[in-house]
Amino acid sequence: MIGILGGTFDPIHFGHLRPALEIQEHLGLDELRFIPCGLPPHRRRPEADVSHRLAMVEQAVALHPGFSVDRRELERDGPSYSVDTLESLRRELGAAVPLCLILGMDAFAGLSSWHRWQDLSSLAHLVVAHRPGSDEPAALEDRAAARRAENPADLRAAPAGRILCVPVTQLDISATAIRDRVARGGSPRFLLPEPVLTYIHRHGLYRACSTGNPG
Ligand code: ATP
Repeated sequence: MIGILGGTFDPIHFGHLRPALEIQEHLGLDELRFIPCGLPPHRRRPEADVSHRLAMVEQAVALHPGFSVDRRELERDGPSYSVDTLESLRRELGAAVPLCLILGMDAFAGLSSWHRWQDLSSLAHLVVAHRPGSDEPAALEDRAAARRAENPADLRAAPAGRILCVPVTQLDISATAIRDRVARGGSPRFLLPEPVLTYIHRHGLYRACSTGNPG
């Protein structure tokens, strides 16, 4: 069973990594792929250039076995739609392997605004991590009751189509707060892995006058 965690990762931080590890262990995932997006459809352009965001994810996933980086969204033109990514993964991995798309609760709550969102459930399971400050029951009850899975075994039993909610350690860390902190001259140490911090300093990312993103 393979897990997929997409994000802007601008930069990657412990709020991504710790829940990812807990979900990997809880589900018994063989592999968890971090998929940095090229052009996020739902938000403004990332501040750091693609190559920097990718390099930071690579440094972070190297710290844990079973974590990997998948570059396919960076190699496509246009907005990074999850449905395209899942179709491409299905072509590569075949129809039988269970795929788990991992989402924060806030992302899940906004799912109906995603491109071709109704096709997602035929391509993958949805694994919803509780995120600090977000509403669990409302979003889930409205949309998910019939497809709700009770445990990881339900996910293993089919390649796609179920929804499992997994409580994870609540870490109220956001990339926005990290960028703001660095821009103000503060240190984001202990909010993200040390190699990522070193990378940010070495390349001067997120400073007020940063040129991390040429656009
Ligand atoms: P930004 O502050 O720039 O919006 P972010 O910190 O929310 O960024 P993203 O790369 O947009 O990070 O997030 C990717 C995925 O990780 C999303 O599904 C998001 O819900 C989830 N996520 C981000 N931060 C946390 C956190 N602290 N705890 C749990 N999930 C998180």
